[in-house]
This record gives sequence, structure tokens and C-alpha cells, in this order.
Amino acid sequence: MGIHQKKVAFVEEKRMSGQQNISIVGMGYVGLCTAAGFASKGARIVATDKDQQKVDSINKCKAPFHEPQLEEALRKATKQSKIKGTVDLEKAILETDVTFVTVGTPSKPDGSSDLGQVQEAATEIGKALSKKEGYHLVVVKSTVLPGTTENLVKPILEKQSNKSCGSDFGLCMNPEFLREGSAIYDTLHPDRIIIGEWDEKSGDTLESLYALFYKQQKIPLIRTNLPTAELIKYANNAFLATKISYINTIANICEKIPETDVAKVAEGIGLDNRINPRFLRAGLGYGGSCFPKDLKALIALAKQQKIEATMLEAVQKVNTNQAKHAVELVKKEVGMLENKRIAILGLSFKPDTGDMREAKSIQIINMLLDEGADVSAYDPVAVPNAKAIFKKRISYATSALNCLKDADCAVIVTEWNEFKDLKPEDFIASMKQPIVVDGRKIYNPETFTKKLNYKAIGLG
Ligand code: NAD
Repeated sequence: MGIHQKKVAFVEEKRMSGQQNISIVGMGYVGLCTAAGFASKGARIVATDKDQQKVDSINKCKAPFHEPQLEEALRKATKQSKIKGTVDLEKAILETDVTFVTVGTPSKPDGSSDLGQVQEAATEIGKALSKKEGYHLVVVKSTVLPGTTENLVKPILEKQSNKSCGSDFGLCMNPEFLREGSAIYDTLHPDRIIIGEWDEKSGDTLESLYALFYKQQKIPLIRTNLPTAELIKYANNAFLATKISYINTIANICEKIPETDVAKVAEGIGLDNRINPRFLRAGLGYGGSCFPKDLKALIALAKQQKIEATMLEAVQKVNTNQAKHAVELVKKEVGMLENKRIAILGLSFKPDTGDMREAKSIQIINMLLDEGADVSAYDPVAVPNAKAIFKKRISYATSALNCLKDADCAVIVTEWNEFKDLKPEDFIASMKQPIVVDGRKIYNPETFTKKLNYKAIGLG
């Protein structure tokens, strides 16, 4: 199939008759937030996961992880009988017309994608399709490398179902761009919809579904082939990661030039509408379940294709070095870290989530522990996840002030709003010596430098 760049259009109102019955496989951040979002648009969702605990939690309207507005959306949907959780994937397929695959695609040690969950989900969906009468659309929403939907998912579905893709069932790749911390909002207000399609009927079916959901909103829609849709997601994340590493490089230059501040530089360049101000916040770099793994996978793909990925590797290197740089700033102010108490404010990879996958806190805390520091940490949500990682190697505070108690240095690792409210006096009153390394530039340098020893990324 050649490039099927059929249209760049807006989602238009089209009629799709009757109740939309949708199954979603994999109730992680993407699956469950998509389920809640689609349910609020009127669809009936069968939410499946192989984890019985997650399913039970969904059926009790309890979100299995922290995500703003999710629990409220779940309660509303359950009240209207719009979401039902089950581990029975076969039943879910038989009861619905469209299935979204939202299982995880973590990294393997060599950086390439572990497609085990996708393979397993496709196998089970294929088996269920063999028992199904009528047309069914399968939509891969998980982030997968170009070629995966066509060369891995499609053959599995065809083999297991003994049916033919295109005529008996449809297949699309529809990358997801939601952000943890605002996932429900993003699901309800996507800035674009990308539909990669095996054939026109598959694409038409998915476009009609989205038209029904988003008919009032002017949402740009691109229809293309499967590998282009897959690549759009990786190119998107790699570009955002590049913006972050770019501004962090500028931040490191600022630190060597007295009286410069990367925040002002970012503001200045962000007003150039070819650049725009978003993703130009200097700091400790990116973490999370997507950017690091997607960049690794894209680099692995480039290498496999014998293409130099110099720029992507540089983005990665700058990102890894940012956390080391923060620890250097701590050492410069505190001296030897042996038995020094370091307070870590923020553990999740970003605010408004408890997710610690590839969080910068992990890299920083491990470096501090290696140097013999005594680490106390606080996060409004992520402490249970941190306990599973660090066990008893660090202590866990129940509030920010409690975390600062007797500390030799505080490091701001995640920009939670409640940390932004802290005043220099709060640090001075609690800490042994008031040294603050602001890894996310959340404080006003003028106010803070006047009252305590304040160091921030990108402050000359
Ligand atoms: P996750 O790891 O939080 O959730 C995956 C879920 O799938 C788990 O609950 C797991 O139990 C379930 N699962 C695995 N195999 C299954 C099977 N065979 N049957 C039923 N359930 C199964 O993943 P996530 O963070 O939601 O990400 C899902 C995909 O979306 C990934 O490819 C990711 O790269 C992509 N993505 C994630 C985000 C994000 O912010 N988290 C954003 C955009 C895209």
C-alpha cells in the first residue's frame, strides 16, 4: 500500500446509527482514560484487562492510579451503565463492534520495543473474532514502531480468526497523544486525530466513530497508511524531547554567564511563532513512560536501518546529564554528601500523576545514595510507588515541611503546585542549612537568592 495521504480535514458530522459498543483492551493510563472519555461521549464501553484487581477497581468506580477527573468520570459513566470492566476478552469482543488495543509497549534492555503484550492481545482478539459474525474493527492505539500493525498484528489476527483483514474485519492504527495529569481533558479535546488505515472501509469506520464523538469541535484529522501513523507518534515525542534537551543545553550555557536566566531566554525565543513557548522549560529533563522509551525505540530502529541517529542520541545524552548536573549543584554547595541529609521534593515524573516510570527522582536519588547521602523524600501522590522502588533505603515524609526537617539541602524534582507555595522562610525554619537546588525553576530567583542559598538550573 502506498502513502494514503487521502485527506487533511476536520472531523465532520457523519451519521453512525445506534449505540456505539466499544471494547478497550488494557486498562492503563491510555485505556482507562480513553474508556472514560468515550463513555462520556455516549459510547458503551467494555473495559478489559487481564489484571483482575484493576477490573474490580474499575467496577467499583475506583481509579487504579492517580489521574485528575478520572474517578469522577468513572462514577458518571458507571451510573449510566456506560462502562463495564471484565477480564473476559472474548465476551468483550463478541459484545462490541470496535476494539481499541491500549496495552503497554515497554522497552527491552537493548532499547527496542517489547511487543509481548501487543502479541498476546492480538492473539486473544483474533481467537474471539473467529467466533464473531459480522464486521469488527480493531484499532491499535498502543505506541508501536512502523510496520508493527501490518506485519505483526494483522497476521496474528488473520491466523487466529481464520478471517481476512479488509473484508471480514478492519484494522487501523490510531496513535494516542494524551498527557498524564490532563488525560481526561486531552481525551475530550484532542488537538488532532491521526488514523492509519489498512483499507478505506477501516478508516471510514473509525472516522465515523470520531465524527460522532467530536462533531461539535473542529478537530484536524489526518488519514494515512498504517506505518505513517505509527511513525507520527515517534516523530512527535522525539521532537518534544528535542525541545526539552535543547533548552536544557541553553540552560547550562546560562549558568556560566553571570546574570542570565534561561527562563527569560525561553520567553524571548518562545515568542517567535515558528518556535512557540511550550516545552521550553529548562529543568532536570524529561522522564515518564513515553519519551525515554519512544526515543530509545526510534534510535534502535534507526540503527537497525543503518541510519545515524546522532541528533536523537544527543537529545538522550543531554537528558541523562541533566540529573547528574543537579547532583553536581548539590555537591558544590553541600560538599561531601556522606551522611548529609538531602530532602527530595517530588518523586513522580511530572505533577498530577503518581507515575514514576523513568522519573528523574530515581536517577537523582540513586546518585545521592551512591555518594552516601541520607535521603528523605516527599510527594503528594507517588510515595507508594517510590516505596516499591527504594524500599527502606530512603525515608518518606508525610508533608513537604516534614521532609525539609534538618536537611542540609533541598532539591525540587517535580513541580507540584503545593511546592510552589513554599516561602523562603519555610525552608529556613525547617532545614539545618537553607540550601535549595531548584530543578524545575519554580521559585522567583530574586526573592529566594535574597533570603537563602538558592541555585537553579539555568541561572547564571
Ligand atoms: P500501562 O502499562 O499503564 O497499561 C497497560 C495495561 O495493559 C495494563 O493494565 C496491563 O495489565 C494491560 N494488559 C497487558 N496485556 C494485556 C492483555 N493481553 N489483555 C488485557 N490487558 C492487558 O500502559 P499505558 O501507559 O496506558 O500505555 C499504553 C500504550 O499507550 C503504550 O504503548 C504507551 O507507549 C502508549 N501511550 C502512553 C501514554 C501515557 O501517557 N501513558 C500516552 C500516549 C501513548
